[in-house]
Amino acid sequence: MQMRDSVHALLSEKLPPEKLQKLDETYGDPTEAYSALAKSGWLGLMFTEDNGGFGGSFRDMAVLIEILGFHSLSIATAYQCSTVFGGSYIQNFGSEEMRREYIPKVISGDIRLAIAYTEPQAGSDVAGIRTRAVRDGDDYVINGQKSYISCAHVANYIAVAVKTNPDAGRKGISMVLVDTRLDGLNIRPMKSLGRHASQINQIFFDDLRVPAEMLIGEENAAWHMMMKSLNFERLVLSAG
Ligand SMILES: Cc1cc2nc3c(=O)[nH]c(=O)nc-3n(C[C@H](O)[C@H](O)[C@H](O)COP(=O)(O)OP(=O)(O)OC[C@H]3O[C@@H](n4cnc5c(N)ncnc54)[C@H](O)[C@@H]3O)c2cc1C
Repeated sequence: MQMRDSVHALLSEKLPPEKLQKLDETYGDPTEAYSALAKSGWLGLMFTEDNGGFGGSFRDMAVLIEILGFHSLSIATAYQCSTVFGGSYIQNFGSEEMRREYIPKVISGDIRLAIAYTEPQAGSDVAGIRTRAVRDGDDYVINGQKSYISCAHVANYIAVAVKTNPDAGRKGISMVLVDTRLDGLNIRPMKSLGRHASQINQIFFDDLRVPAEMLIGEENAAWHMMMKSLNFERLVLSAG
């Protein structure tokens, strides 16, 4: 109850209906409200205490996302993309160095994350992705395309599902954290019917080189990570 009231008061001030309307008309991002949530510590709710968070439960997360969604899908989506969709991969499967480097910045709002599974020919059938990552020395070289990726245009890093062994079906998928400043990455916002303030994007990878240390978890082992993460994603999507 206290959490609901507190977030409700914050968003009533930072994201009133007239501001939302403006964001919707201009395909804007609720940056100011997002920063206010970060400043008040809400971005840390689901992260464990040893990662600098508050160790909130699934129920806590559902309550928080519900009140975000009550105000606006745009702020709920911005929150989910970075903390839940991207952040939980790093927390649950990232190396210690990766956790120490990125989670504090996600919690402080200094960086934002997005998640990229979907491709033009692979939505529900996520094992059918074709975006390819080939190991070359200390890097992976990525080629392919993603579509419908929420908040990619405002993300600093995107957790990208790639095929590292195209002959192995779901046993050939890996997850790589891609810095959006890298050469070879082209993010193109898509026009949508509604939801203008939580934009979706196409992403094109053209010989993008990412250091191999940006692999999340083991190579070819992303399937079980995705199944675990998607369960949590479905919970918060329903709450929002
Ligand atoms: C607003 C929005 C935001 C999104 N954000 C992201 C994001 O941030 N990251 C990301 O990776 N993706 C994102 N997506 C993509 C989303 O995950 C996909 O739309 C979803 O996985 C479904 O894929 P699809 O659209 O290709 O539909 P399809 O997989 O082609 O499904 C079409 C229909 O067929 C049904 N269907 C499919 N397979 C079967 C089957 N085997 N048996 C019975 N019925 C079946 C489905 O239920 C659905 O009704 C977003 C999509 C939207 C609309």
